[in-house]
This record gives sequence, structure tokens and C-alpha cells, in this order.
Amino acid sequence: MSKHRSRTLGERTLAPETLMMGFGYDPTLSEGSIKAPIFQTSTFVFKSAEDGKRFFEVAYGLRQKEPEEALGLIYSRINNPNLEILEDRLAVWDAADKALVFSSGMAAISTTMMALSRPGDVIVYTAPAYGGTEYLFDRILPRMGVRTVSVADCDGGEALAAAIRSASAEAAANGGRLAAVYVETPANPTNQLIDLQAAAACIRDLGLAEPPLLVVDNTFLGPLWQKPLQHGADLVLYSLTKYVGGHSDLIAGACLGRADLMARVGEMRTICGTITDPHTAWLLMRSLETLHIRMERSQANARTLVSRLRGHPKIEAVLDAGGAEASASQQALFARQCSGAGSTFSLRLKGGEAEAFRMLNALQLFKLAVSLGGTESLVSHPSSTTHSDYSPEAKARCGIGDNLVRLSVGIENADDLYADLERALAAV
Ligand SMILES: *Cc1c(COP(=O)(O)O)cnc(C)c1O
Repeated sequence: MSKHRSRTLGERTLAPETLMMGFGYDPTLSEGSIKAPIFQTSTFVFKSAEDGKRFFEVAYGLRQKEPEEALGLIYSRINNPNLEILEDRLAVWDAADKALVFSSGMAAISTTMMALSRPGDVIVYTAPAYGGTEYLFDRILPRMGVRTVSVADCDGGEALAAAIRSASAEAAANGGRLAAVYVETPANPTNQLIDLQAAAACIRDLGLAEPPLLVVDNTFLGPLWQKPLQHGADLVLYSLTKYVGGHSDLIAGACLGRADLMARVGEMRTICGTITDPHTAWLLMRSLETLHIRMERSQANARTLVSRLRGHPKIEAVLDAGGAEASASQQALFARQCSGAGSTFSLRLKGGEAEAFRMLNALQLFKLAVSLGGTESLVSHPSSTTHSDYSPEAKARCGIGDNLVRLSVGIENADDLYADLERALAAV
């Protein structure tokens, strides 16, 4: 195997952070350039008519690629060197067969769910979910004849298991099928965890020849602190806009998983044209080189802030994944499923919207913006922004009060960040 494709050094298996520097890229193909150039091109010249024919046979699924066959470059809506190197590197972190990159997290989610479902199908999904995801399931997919069932309060796993069993039985009675179970864990903005192994076991117990696929949005803790494919997930989704991009300067998404499923997702991406562009892919390769350092540092900062904020007289609760104020079952699940709590957490203030707004307006280092996972710290008010289209009942069911403030902690100095929070809390 050529050295830029090798994942080992002698007997040693190389760690993902090492592979991020060179894996999948051969400098001799690009004048020795240490970094992959940006292949800013729409199309690729075939060496011969026979090559063009062979490449299209594989791209259009007319035959399987031979094990040692190099899939030729065709057209940047189908493939591009920057995309291919990036996808090889992304797949390393989750130990997936294959990754595909999209023009946004929502492009990844919508393209994947369209690839997996057809009219008459049912999809079960957990709430609260990202606003765009909620909109897709609640309003768009039903227009295409796909019924969707939202499940809240998944602590303990009984509600999700019951919804999976009843949706499957009902779909079968109507001549349809439960196509997928879609899980976002930890949930935004409450950080409630959902048990992936329990969901996978429930799906197995249905005993179906064509079981529903378990699809997990891993944006909040992945790819470092949670690896859903190891806990029974079939596909993993990311908004790469967040931690993976990490610099608040791009929008992108990804889907990862088994080769046979990724072929279905890839077909839909090619036809919907939801692939990302070479420049964004290049920026993401830059980002992957520092991913582990950024995620470790922002998590360490967040741990410092959580421990200092807990018990603060202006704060009712600190909602971090599997944290001290979470239930015993959530803490046990955290220990099984996650290797870190990440750096996005929420505060439930004493009071309501007025108190929350006073805090938000007093912060100086924490910028008032939606999104998360960047190098800089951000703060937001879910109830009036990202989750403002939830009904009052849905907000109550999902624990999204007017007193809830979400923080995404960056890589600044932790003492500076705490000073900013302390001053803002004093203004509440
Ligand atoms: C941001 C986000 C998305 C959507 O990603 P975009 O890149 O904005 O399209 C999906 N899921 C979660 C959990 C997110 O935080």
C-alpha cells in the first residue's frame, strides 16, 4: 500500500490526529505541495473514452468498483480530489467505511433521510432536535408521504422503545415500514442523552428482515467524545459547521457509515447536488489538523466554567451532558456512551426572560450568536431564537424555558471567560 494510504507504522496503528496531516494525499501528484492544492474545477479530463465509460459505470451503480480499481475523477458534483481526501480523513475518526461531505449539516440530514425513505414509510425521531431537523421531519417529509413521529422525554429509554414498537406495528398494518429511527444526542439545548445501545437493541428485537436504520446526529460530541457506530448506530451525521470546521467560517455537513448504506446516500447526493465545494473541503482539511487540540481545550475550559458556575446564587441548574445535576440514569449512560462532555452546556437562571436577557446583554467576551463549536465563545437564548417556533407545550415538554441560556465555550483563557460570566451574572 502506498505510504499516504497507510494507517500503520510498522506494527503500530496510527492515531487519527497523526493521520490528519497526510492521510489520503500523495504530494507527488501535486508538484510536491505539502498541502493539497484546491482543485477549483468543475470537470476532469478523461485519458481515454474507455476510462470515461468505466468511471460512469461505477458512479451510476451499473457495477461495483473492483477492490484495487481507482475510481476516476469525473465532475465536481460527483467527486473532486479535495472532497475525496477530506472524506477519507473524516471516516478515520468514526472508523466508518465511508464518509460523504455535503454543503451543510441540513444538506447531509435531508439528503440522507430522503435516500432512506419512500412514501408510506414512518420515521421516529427524538425531541428536542435541531430546529432545521425538526422542520424537515415535522413539515417537509410528511409532504412527501413519509409519516414522522416525535418522541420527547427519552430519559431511561422506555418512551423511545415504546414509540419504535408502536410505529413499526402501525406501519406494517398499513403496508408500510418503519424506515429509520433518528436520534440527536446530546439533545440541544438541554444536553439530555439518549441511549443508543438500548435503541439498537429495541430495533433488533423487532425481528424484521429489513430493520429500521438507526441514524445519529453526532454534532455536539463527535467525533472525539462520542462514537455512535460503536454503539449500534448505522449512520452518523454531522454539521461540520460546528466543531469540525471549528472557526465559524464555513457551512458544511457529513454522513458516515457502512459502504452499502453510503452508496444509497451517495446516489441521492449526486442527483440532488448537495455536495460541498473544493474550497470549503480544503478549509475543513485545515480544520481537521487541529480538531483534537481545539476540542480538548474548549472542553477543559467548559469543565472549569461548569465547576465554578454550579451553585452560583443566580443559577438554578447547570445542564451539561451526564453532569452532577443530571439523573443517576443519565450519569450512568454518559459513562457508557461518551468519553467527554464537550463544551456546549446550558444554564437555567433563577427568573425568566428578563433575567436571561440582562445576562446576555451584559456579556462581552461571549458573543451573542447562534451556532457553536468555534474557537470563540458564544451565548444564545434558545427559547426566543433557535427554538422559538416550538409551541409552549413543546417547550415545556423539552425543558426549554425562558430562563435557559446556552453557552458554547471556545479556546480563550478560562479565567477571562469566567470573569465575563461573573460580571454578567452580577448584572442579572
Ligand atoms: C447546526 C446543526 C445542524 C445543522 O447544520 P448546518 O450546517 O447549519 O446546516 C444540525 N444538527 C445540529 C445538532 C446542529 O447543531
